[in-house]
Amino acid sequence: MRQRLEEQNRQLHQEIIERQRVEDELRENETRVNALLHAIPDLMFRLNRDGIFVDYKAARSDLYVQAGDSIIGKACHELLPDQLANITHEYIAKTLDSDDIQVFEYQLPVPGRDLRNYEARMVASGNDEVTAIIRDITERKQAEKALQQAKERADEANRAKSVFLANMSHELRTPLHGILGFAQRLEHDATLTEAQREEVKVILRNGDHLLTLINDILDFTKIETNRLALQPAAFALPDMLAQIVDMIGLSARQKGLSFIYEAPADLPHIVSGDQKRLRQILVNLLGNAVKYTDHGDVTLRVKKLETRHSHLEKPGSPSQDSVSQFPISGFRFHIEDTGIGIAPEHLETIFQSFQQADPYQLQEGSTGLGLAISQRLVKMMGGHLQVTSMTGQGSTFWFEVELPVIETGGMDVIQSGHDDISGYPFKETFGTTLAALPADWLATLKRAAEETDIEALFEVIAQIRERDAALADALAQLVHDFEYDEMLTILQENNVSV
Ligand code: ADP
Repeated sequence: MRQRLEEQNRQLHQEIIERQRVEDELRENETRVNALLHAIPDLMFRLNRDGIFVDYKAARSDLYVQAGDSIIGKACHELLPDQLANITHEYIAKTLDSDDIQVFEYQLPVPGRDLRNYEARMVASGNDEVTAIIRDITERKQAEKALQQAKERADEANRAKSVFLANMSHELRTPLHGILGFAQRLEHDATLTEAQREEVKVILRNGDHLLTLINDILDFTKIETNRLALQPAAFALPDMLAQIVDMIGLSARQKGLSFIYEAPADLPHIVSGDQKRLRQILVNLLGNAVKYTDHGDVTLRVKKLETRHSHLEKPGSPSQDSVSQFPISGFRFHIEDTGIGIAPEHLETIFQSFQQADPYQLQEGSTGLGLAISQRLVKMMGGHLQVTSMTGQGSTFWFEVELPVIETGGMDVIQSGHDDISGYPFKETFGTTLAALPADWLATLKRAAEETDIEALFEVIAQIRERDAALADALAQLVHDFEYDEMLTILQENNVSV
């Protein structure tokens, strides 16, 4: 008996020690949790499913809960504005029913201060209750708003700058065309002395340079304002390359460089793409190669990559159904030189607008826009312009694009190729309507396009709209895109003789 009592006593003692240990641990945990809670600046509430405040934790300075303990046992509707009380109820239900953390934002006027912004995070905390953590996000909201406003102001200023640049470029281009036109006529004047003819050539050379610079600025502005769209059409790829080779070959030879052109014999004859823009990229890269090379050679290497049948639309390729039936071929263009090369630290920046690898080596006619424009155009065509270079040894630029192959060879196919695809939307879609317009409208259209007289253009377009809205839209788009030269070409192409 005594032995049993002693045993029970020992077990009881053991239990008391264990309980004591658990209590100590609980107290320690509570202290730790309380310390943690006090370190968190956010306001915390515990609410039950009916929206009754069960508990809270707030900094003493928190004006919102100055009422102190009196909030416990009260309902949201007694303490909060109606709208916020409703939202709180809605989120309590959502939190308890979904078990997910719920987040919402709201505004609340705080006594003596402005309207403040809060973010509430709600989690289920057992016992059919939620814990809501309320954070004052007024400063963050204000900073976000200020940032947004600053961005809008910067965008607006940038847009205004682009419009100004575009308008300015046009204003400059028109008189320059006049100067170049008359200089060209003068160059062939038989009464000129040799010395005078040389002087006229200087005018022409400098005028051409100026025109290139203005065109670069205009293109760049169009790209920046997303107003440049590719205009795919069927064209003879080998012919285009031959023209470039003639042109660049001449300037290379004038500098004492050899020009090498390598292209496969089976280069497709007719492809579909934006010929003007592809030529612009190649002329820019080859022009740079010649510009930045004093000895050695400049090479243009064209490779035909895999051909596939695809109905997938690629960026930059024509989306008309009529071209999706043609196989698509990849083409790689390599432009190599043995020139001054580009230092590794400049390889990234040369693609940025107005950036030049070495401002001290500035060449005539340089704007630092050529590569930025070329890179964007290659990207619009679905490719990526890349470069490798070694200082003093030369540079290689290359890119790949995919183009639908309309015909693999033969001149007679060019004609049928043209008819097959809607590469000349104006001729095919509007040719007849355009030619049937009253002669005086066409004359005004031509004069206004030549003089970039926007007001007059829109006046004629308004008249045209009454007859053919689609044609008017297409013409208005050209004005919108500053494509006055394009409009003149179209008038010419459609035999509009006025
Ligand atoms: P830029 O009008 O100055 O030629 P680009 O945008 O065409 O403008 O080129 C930017 C810069 O990249 C050039 O100023 C030049 O420093 C460098 N660069 C471009 N192409 C070559 C090249 N083939 N060899 C050496 N440097 C080049």
